[in-house]
Amino acid sequence: MATPVLPRSVQRLIDEFARLPGIGPKSASRLTFYLLRATDNQALDLSVALQELKERTRLCSVCFNITEDDPCPICEDEARDAHLVCVVEEPLDVLAIERSRAYGGRYHVLHGAISPVEGIGPEDLRVTELVQRVAQGQFTEIILATNPTLEGESTALYLQRRLAEYGVRMTRLARGLPVGGDLEYTDEITLGRALEGRQEV
Ligand code: ZN
Repeated sequence: MATPVLPRSVQRLIDEFARLPGIGPKSASRLTFYLLRATDNQALDLSVALQELKERTRLCSVCFNITEDDPCPICEDEARDAHLVCVVEEPLDVLAIERSRAYGGRYHVLHGAISPVEGIGPEDLRVTELVQRVAQGQFTEIILATNPTLEGESTALYLQRRLAEYGVRMTRLARGLPVGGDLEYTDEITLGRALEGRQEV
C-alpha cells in the first residue's frame, strides 16, 4: 500500500468537495489548499455557513419553497395575488421567476419532475399537496411552469389531467424557452416574456 501523501484532514475536505456537482478532483484540491492558506476567519465562516444552511432552513409548509420562516415570505406577502399559483420543479426556479419581475402570485414547488427512467413518479413529488391547495378553491389560474424538457412536459401533462376536475384555468409558459433547458438558466427577459405570453392548456 502506498503511503498517504496528504494528512487525513486535508484529504477528507478534498473528498467532500469532490462529491459536489461540477467539482472535479483538481478543483477539489485547489479549493482545499486555498482554504489551508486562507485566514482562520474565512475557513471558519465557511463552516458556520454550511452548518446554518442545514440547521436554519426548512420547506415552507404551504408552497414547499426553501425558507427560514414558515410560512415563507412569499406565502405571507399580502400584496401578492393569492388567486395565482405558479407550479415549478425546484426552488431555484422560484428564484429565476422572481428575478424576471413578471410575476406577482404564489408558488408551488414540486421538488422534481416525473421521470419513469429515473423511477420518479408523482408520489415522489409534492403533487398531493398541490391538489389539496387547488381543491381549497382559492386559485383562478394555475401556471404549469415546469421545465421545457421531456420530464417537465410529462409532469405538466400529468398535472393537467389530475387537476382538470377543479375547473381552474391552466396555462403553460410560452414557447421560446430553449427546449431541453432549465428555467434556472434562462435569462430574466426571456423568462419574463414566456410568463407574459403564457397559453391556455
Ligand atoms: Zn411558501
